[in-house]
Amino acid sequence: MTEILNKLYIGGQWRDASDGGSFDVLNPADESVLATVASGSVEDAMACLDAAESAFADWSARSPRERGEVLRRAYELFVKRIDDIARLITLENGKAGADATGEARYAAEFFRWYAEEAVRPAGHVGLAPATGARIVVHQKPAGMAVLVTPWNYPAAMGARKIGPALAAGCPVVIKPASETPLTMLALMPILEEAGVPAGIVNVLPSRSSGAVVGEMLADPRVRVVSFTGSTEVGRKLLRSAADNVVKPAMELGGNAPFIVCKDADLDAAADGLMVAKMRNLGEACTAANRIYVHEEIEVAFVERFTARMAALKMGNGLEDGIDVGPLVNAETRDKVDHFVRDAVAKGAELKLGGVRPNGPGFYYPPTVMTNVPDDAECLHDEIFGPVAAIQTFRDENEVVCRANDTQYGLVAYLYTRDMRRGMGIAERLEFGMIGLNRGLVSDPAAPFGGVKQSGLGREGGKEGMLEFQETQYISTEW
Ligand code: NAP
Repeated sequence: MTEILNKLYIGGQWRDASDGGSFDVLNPADESVLATVASGSVEDAMACLDAAESAFADWSARSPRERGEVLRRAYELFVKRIDDIARLITLENGKAGADATGEARYAAEFFRWYAEEAVRPAGHVGLAPATGARIVVHQKPAGMAVLVTPWNYPAAMGARKIGPALAAGCPVVIKPASETPLTMLALMPILEEAGVPAGIVNVLPSRSSGAVVGEMLADPRVRVVSFTGSTEVGRKLLRSAADNVVKPAMELGGNAPFIVCKDADLDAAADGLMVAKMRNLGEACTAANRIYVHEEIEVAFVERFTARMAALKMGNGLEDGIDVGPLVNAETRDKVDHFVRDAVAKGAELKLGGVRPNGPGFYYPPTVMTNVPDDAECLHDEIFGPVAAIQTFRDENEVVCRANDTQYGLVAYLYTRDMRRGMGIAERLEFGMIGLNRGLVSDPAAPFGGVKQSGLGREGGKEGMLEFQETQYISTEW
């Protein structure tokens, strides 16, 4: 097991906070203190920007191949240490071993993918139709980037930003979530060994997130803010970014519909829902939040899905054979419990679970509810827990309207055997991503992101690198 690193990482140095501040990180499985971590101040944030500024010119001037090879080495070193990283993810976040290993592999892939993308910068040359002047278009690194990440994927949400930023030539300051800063700190020795120069990646855990991020966004050297987290905080960062017109990339909340059509393969749909609902215990922006099942197949589908949920084993995520670990903190567990009580009080029927166990640990069991009424709070907010809220529908147009009736637009899932119907419905769904006969859309090679209040911009794929680049057009003739 790698040692737990608990200091700020600035300019390649491990430092205490300038004001001596610190905060505790808990193990959600037993509520014990895992580590006491330095809490970065505004002064430390400025030190991060200074370090990033000093390192920027050299890194951005290196050839794309050289940057790509550093990223490739980071991928290889990451894969070698995957078990250690996965264990740390479970320790600070609670998720079960298989989920943690899945996340660590997914995170590592962003270094491989962007090692390959680094050498394929977009650009083109054209002719101005009227004058015959040459139009030369190329991409430049956008500049210093501030990255802010959530607790639900302590490795992957950071890797999904660091990979493309470094490929594009940008230095970064990353502020991980206060519940889970340890994984990101543990990745730093890997990046160092891979050859990432001091100052190119700086990690600033901080309990004063509003102040440190706000001051960094007020500094004219910062040109990109890439945030993953709640829509509420995303709105605040967009307001702060407006002052210096900083380029925003926002991966925000979701409220994913999961639609099971009458002609769906019910076993495949139940398996797909297990992934869409239970991956990461439901603590995912992509988690199926509103489940719409055609009324004629409801009984058969619910039976299949409930049997799968009932087979899951809950416990400490570090133990073998555990599928469901604890939720990340008491607040998240209490919110999930509230959603279930509220739905049941309004008439929902409990098919499984629904009873909060006594502590220690922030556990909540796999829960299935049917006949969930439209006014249940869980249909309008992110559940972020292992609770499936099922409703029925009768007709295609009706379910498309209901699915679209939300401020969010991150991902929607749809199961049908008829691809013509599937593509037709998919195109009418107002979501940035569609899982058509799949319960998982995340892939480093694909553009991840939402529409409406789920965000701006894309991560992964070719698109992910554009978030860290600026297009320059040169008008010339020769
Ligand atoms: P959050 O409360 O928005 O926090 C996310 C990050 O923002 C944390 O690092 C947090 O720091 C920081 N933060 C909080 N207030 C801030 C402020 N005023 N200024 C600057 N930074 C601030 O979200 P969360 O509860 O950690 O994560 C869950 C949310 O993330 C859900 O809504 C989920 O849907 C969303 N999410 C979206 C995606 C996506 O790709 N669309 C992926 C994963 C998660 P502290 O921890 O120190 O408060």
